[in-house]
Amino acid sequence: MDGFSKYYKKTWQERLDILVKQNKITLSQRQMLESLAVNQEIGDIQIENFITQYQIPEGLAMNYVINGKEYIVPMVTEEPSVIAASSHGAGIIKRSGGLKAKIHSRLMMGQVVLENVDDAKILVNQLQTQISTLIEVANQAHPSIVKRGGGAREIEFRILAPDMVSVDLFVDVQEAMGANILNTMLEAVAAKISEQYHRDILMSILSNYATKCLVTATCEIPIDILGKNGIDGKNVAQKFAQASRLAQLDPYRAATHNKGIMNGVDAVVIASGNDWRAVEASCHAYASKDGQYRGLSSWEIQADKLVGKITLPLPVGAVGGSIGIVPLAKLNKQLLTFENAKELETIIASVGLAQNFAALYALVTEGIQKGHMRLQLKSLAKSIGANEQEITRVINELEKIGKRDSNSAQAILEKIRGEK
Ligand code: NDP
Repeated sequence: MDGFSKYYKKTWQERLDILVKQNKITLSQRQMLESLAVNQEIGDIQIENFITQYQIPEGLAMNYVINGKEYIVPMVTEEPSVIAASSHGAGIIKRSGGLKAKIHSRLMMGQVVLENVDDAKILVNQLQTQISTLIEVANQAHPSIVKRGGGAREIEFRILAPDMVSVDLFVDVQEAMGANILNTMLEAVAAKISEQYHRDILMSILSNYATKCLVTATCEIPIDILGKNGIDGKNVAQKFAQASRLAQLDPYRAATHNKGIMNGVDAVVIASGNDWRAVEASCHAYASKDGQYRGLSSWEIQADKLVGKITLPLPVGAVGGSIGIVPLAKLNKQLLTFENAKELETIIASVGLAQNFAALYALVTEGIQKGHMRLQLKSLAKSIGANEQEITRVINELEKIGKRDSNSAQAILEKIRGEK
């Protein structure tokens, strides 16, 4: 498009002007873009061709107790009911002693992929003898992380095909998520391999399948407090166990089971300024670790308790990327009161488990729609143009007639307006 040539070289104001000039937006829409851009300087640093800041609501989930510490949890999400469900789930778990979470390991992984290999086994044997040299090369490429107590720790090799070998580098990235640290190290390792063994490098890149960055959260809930809607606690617990089994058996259910978990996980990851695509990619890959896509959490009855467990790969950082740049990410760090990236991981995994508990509890007792209903009706009323006074009446009328579609909402709104 001609009018947009070298758009990236324009100033922010010029970019907005071009949109008007090219008849893509009106003058009042230009004003809207301008007023939504709460921090133009930061936006311009963060991304290219910046025009405005897109707004997603942030709220606080309550009742979290993890490893004996109380948290209020900032969550960024546009989905109704997520924060209410999170707080509700965390509250029941709190009354049962809270969540426990532990880190298994915290190493990020990246790969140098060698192609056109005609002697994969021989090459891997040769490279095996060079592990300490390659680790040294990686560390020299990013000496500051070594100074901080981190650095390259392990190298493993995988023969992906007779002509393709992956050199896997595992790095202690300390408080960072580490994508850029890894990528710098990997390119140095690739250059060394290329120089010494004259091999073809296909690519050198971080892997988002963070299998050595795992955290497990657990909780134990007395079965007798689970009774609801005329279903006794034992029955509810059995249904939890069945729901958990279903998510292991059926990928169609597993995807939705995990989406509910990620409702909580992503909301905290975004609030903390971390890369949620990295976490999404990691968690969904982990859900397929044995070849079939499965639920990420499990629920089972142990004596008089319902025991929940979730293990997630959580490649997140407490520094780096947007974290130090976006003021709200800094404020959220203050609200969350976590000391380091490992503690942040324990919080995120715990939110994932509590979110899953709340979703399953609703599903196996009253069904998911009841709890969701009021907030969804509010969005529906707003979407058809109801004002603040009209919204409550539209919701009440919709509830009365048991409908939740836009036609019914529109008819109610027209009736209300006709009364005036
Ligand atoms: P940065 O590039 O911002 O690097 C973090 C930097 O923080 C470190 O290099 C280090 O610099 C500094 N630092 C200060 N204190 C510490 C500490 N205590 N521990 C560790 N580092 C510290 O971010 P990351 O390398 O973490 O990469 C994350 C970003 O990369 C995200 O924005 C992500 O979206 C993006 N990304 C993601 C990819 C993916 O997921 N596939 C691919 C590419 C990018 P120094 O030591 O020099 O002071």
